[in-house]
Amino acid sequence: MIQLYIPLNFLGVIYREIKQSLADMERLFGLLEQHREVADAPDAQPLATQGARVEFAHVEFSYDPKRQILFDVDFTIPAGTTTAVVGHSGSGKSTLSRLLFRFYDVQAGAIRIDGQDLRHVSQESLRHAIGIVPQDTVLFNDTIEYNIAYGRPGAGHDEVVAAARAASIHDFIESLPDGYATMVGERGLKLSGGEKQRVAIARTLLKNPAILIFDEATSALDSKSEQAIQAQLKEIARQRTTLVIAHRLSTIADAGQILVLDHGRIVERGTHAALIAADGLYRQMWDRQQARQDEALASPETIEQ
Ligand code: ATP
Repeated sequence: MIQLYIPLNFLGVIYREIKQSLADMERLFGLLEQHREVADAPDAQPLATQGARVEFAHVEFSYDPKRQILFDVDFTIPAGTTTAVVGHSGSGKSTLSRLLFRFYDVQAGAIRIDGQDLRHVSQESLRHAIGIVPQDTVLFNDTIEYNIAYGRPGAGHDEVVAAARAASIHDFIESLPDGYATMVGERGLKLSGGEKQRVAIARTLLKNPAILIFDEATSALDSKSEQAIQAQLKEIARQRTTLVIAHRLSTIADAGQILVLDHGRIVERGTHAALIAADGLYRQMWDRQQARQDEALASPETIEQ
């Protein structure tokens, strides 16, 4: 029996390895696919940032010519300030961040950083200037140290630890039997949503970009993690030009500017107080979320948690 078990078990391991490698390759090809959409102009210059003012000027965009996604999107994020985008699912919020990262080019209008059209700067310099804290961070099947250092290849151990401390994940890492050498990802330790976001924050701190895109997770973390992450983000957003793709309005109430997208158009803009007073779509979304929160608080299961 044992004689049969060992080879079968071995085959199982090989099968899992192959499956994982295929998953990694799929991810890699997915990324390459996205990069193929645009190419550097022959005379592309490195992006030179001075505070990083971001400007979307009358942007029109469609992934597919038959279906336009953004219509005359026009806004500016002054250097070093935070702008949040809200809107129903599918309204085009994440598309804005993909365009700022230049995964695609706009069909009309322009996107500029400190006056430089994204189509005229090298993609390498653009991607160097922008840090993304995504909804769902991809972890590589490697150590947690590697996963943080990925923010700035070549970063030393002390720098990784400093970033992990600033992202409040150092103590958690130290508590693991293998510390920073712990394997994570699909083949290693599975991290919770909040832990993964902290790894992404540590990566971004190491990268130290002029522009930050924060794509808020759709599924809420528990409120303690949520508050801690919000506090850290506020810290890293200070002095950086920040675009927040928001799903929970409570997290962006103090953003310098809030844009409300509806079917690819900016239908309202202003501060939280101004938008509440305007009594339009934002006010409706806010009232609905508050009502849902009150319901959740009133439900016994939530109180027990
Ligand atoms: P959510 O809040 O659900 O994340 P969103 O406001 O961020 O939504 P986007 O992801 O920007 O919405 O998508 C806007 C529209 O573009 C959607 O209708 C979506 O189906 C479409 N879309 C997104 N990505 C692609 C793509 N790669 N190809 C074709 N259509 C796409």
